[in-house]
This record gives sequence, C-alpha cells and structure tokens, in this order.
Amino acid sequence: MTSQPFDYPIAKTYRTIGESLIRRLSHVGMRPGKLSLAGGYPGAELFDRDGLLAASDAVLHESPVACLQYGPAEGLPVMREAVVALLASRGMRCTPDEVLITSGSQQGFDVVIRTMMAPGEVAIVERPTYTGPLRALRVAGAEILTVGIDGSGIDVDELAELLEGRRRRTQKLPRLIYTIPTFGNPSGATMNRARRLRLLELAVAHRLLVLEDDPYGALRFAGEPIEQLHALADSVPGARDLVIHFGSFSKVIAPGLRIGFMVAPKPVRAACTIARQLIDLSSPGWIQMTVARYVATGALAAHLPLIRDGYRVKAEAMRSALESVLGNRFGCHFPEGGMFAWGRLTGGHSARDLLALAIDEGVTFVPGDIYYADRPDAATMRLSFSQPTVDGIREGVARMGRALDRLDAGERKPLDLG
Ligand code: PMP
Repeated sequence: MTSQPFDYPIAKTYRTIGESLIRRLSHVGMRPGKLSLAGGYPGAELFDRDGLLAASDAVLHESPVACLQYGPAEGLPVMREAVVALLASRGMRCTPDEVLITSGSQQGFDVVIRTMMAPGEVAIVERPTYTGPLRALRVAGAEILTVGIDGSGIDVDELAELLEGRRRRTQKLPRLIYTIPTFGNPSGATMNRARRLRLLELAVAHRLLVLEDDPYGALRFAGEPIEQLHALADSVPGARDLVIHFGSFSKVIAPGLRIGFMVAPKPVRAACTIARQLIDLSSPGWIQMTVARYVATGALAAHLPLIRDGYRVKAEAMRSALESVLGNRFGCHFPEGGMFAWGRLTGGHSARDLLALAIDEGVTFVPGDIYYADRPDAATMRLSFSQPTVDGIREGVARMGRALDRLDAGERKPLDLG
C-alpha cells in the first residue's frame, strides 16, 4: 500500500511567493566558466579580510563576555554608538536609543512590515523597486501601490496626485512609502534634493511613513552627495517623526556579517525590538563587537576609498563595453555610485528572451520585470558591475552581445535555470 504524500499545511502566501530569482540567477552565473552580472554581490577582492581578522581577534581578547554571551535585542551599546558616530560623520543626527541593530537591513524591513502592516493596509513602492521589501509586503497581505521614478528619483507630482486622489475618493490611505533615494536598486537613480524635500512635505501632509533604504549611499564614486531623507527631515516641520532610515554594512564591509541597522522613532523601535525578541533574540555579539571596532577605529573609513575606486573602474568598464558591443540596441542609465546599471532593450525584445540565450552563452543578469509591483516593463534589465572583475565584465558583455545577435536573428530558447 502506498501512502499519500503528506500535505504540509504551508500558508498560501509562502506557497505562492516563490524563491528569489536573483539568488538563482547569481548561482547559475557563478558555475565554472559562467559569469554573473546578476546578484548585488560585493567584489570579493575588496573584502578587508586582514582588517576584520584583527578587529575580531582584538574584541574576543578584550571583551569575551560581550562577544559570547546573549545580548540585548536592540543591539550592543557599543555597536549602536558606532552607528550614531558613523551617521554623524555623514551628516545625519540620531541617538543610540533610536537605533536598532538588525541582521541585515532585510530584517529591518521585515520587522517594520510585521509590526505595522496588517493585511489590507496600503503601501507605496517605487516603480521599479528592490524585491526584498516587495516580497515582505506581499507576505503581509498589503495592498501595494506604485509611483514612477526617473534618473532623479520619485516622480513627486505623480505621488501627490496618487495621495490626493485616494483622499478625494475616500479610499484607504497609504500607511508607508518605501524608497531607495540614493543609487536605487535596480535603477541606480538618485533622488534630487528638491524632490526629497517635496516627498517629506507630502509625507507630513498625508501622515505617511517614509522608509528610507540607504545601503549604497557611502559608495558614491562620482558627483556630489545629497543629504539623506532622515537628515533633511530636520528642516521640514513634522517630518522627522515619519522617517525610518535603514542602513547596512553588507555593501561596505561584507554581507556575510549580516549586520544592518535602522534608525526609527522610539515607538516603532520598541515594537521592532519585541519582534526581534521573537525572531532571533539579537544579532550575534561577536560580530557586532567586531563591526563596532572596525568602524570606531577608522578602519572602515580607511578602506572605503578602495571600494569606491574599484566600483568606479568597474562601472566605467561596463559602460564602455556596453557602448561598443550593444551600441544603440541597448539604452542604459549609469549611476554615480552603488552597484547597478539599469537598461532597456530598444529593439522590441524582452529581457527574458535575451536572458535565455545569454545563459546559453554563459552569462546571467536580472530581467527587470521582477522589480515592478505593477506595470512591468519587459524590455528592462539590471546589470551588476560590482562582483565580476574588469575582464569578467568585458567578457560578460561580449557574451550578452552574442546572445542579442542570436535574438535579432530570430532565435528563441526557453529559460533554463538548471
Ligand atoms: N536594500 C537594498 C536596496 C538592497 O539592494 C539589499 C541587498 N541586495 C538590501 C537592502 C539587503 O541588504 P542586507 O544584506 O543588509 O540585508
């Protein structure tokens, strides 16, 4: 007698959400002989292994109990103080009791969404936006609205119309907007100062929480910095209470540390601290101590220019390779920092059709449609220049060129992620 397979009672949202396509494409691209322009992975040659080893060794010698014992859910005081000092050096003012250390900024969105978004609550995201919070909002059962962006960030007129329209029609008002104002993922776009101020004014007028995600802000390799929304909120009456700022050490030190932080109004931080007590009790003490020391001793500040220079060179290598190989068959926006170029096929092809052939040629990238909560543009794609070497970038783009030639010649292949 064969028994029926057990039907595990997995919640519908987790049955339908699917695994991350970006992760799968990154893995396909990292197989021997393949190249990945897909994941937002830092360049491994830029990890400061020696600096981290020295910091981790020192803290374990000096403070073994803080490293190895259970610690507070909100994060160790030295880690929170290091975050406050780091943000102050970038022009942002906050206190340690507004800071919550998280296991990556991804956990920050997750706890904010868990604690504030009941099913049916309304959120606004950029079109296109990063998939992490998008997926967390979907799992929470949120209604997701979108607002367009261009190279200068959110279209604030469209946002004003969206908010005023819902108010006029007495529809449920959005509770939050999630934005990546500096070197957006996937767009690479940076919101200009005037739009940042208008966004904050709209937030005050419509009682809208602003979730500012800023993992890439310190990776500026061209142009002039613009204040974070959290910093600008000091000059817009009522705005400071509405901004929740998320930061991360993943892109500037290493994602394997899983250390990020959020700066939030105290009631939000208190609710999120309780969520942390339920999820994982706290971020690892030894890692927090190591990162705090690495930041406080100036090792991060000393190492950052190497990362910026590395990405400047890689971005330029990608820009010139795309121009010479794909020419006007591909329109591309290059950012002033961060890790991503965002482009669009101009010949009417879909990025997924190109991807299927590109995998065959031995290169991966991310089709842009996954970054849209609605109205996807099938011709778009995200190309990451941070992880591959300069030679890898040139070879990867050459492979994309061969794939596009095949597509232009009428060839089609099903997408095979192996
Ligand atoms: N926000 C954005 C915009 C990202 O691109 C990423 C990672 N790709 C994250 C947050 C998550 O980073 P972390 O490793 O800090 O969880």
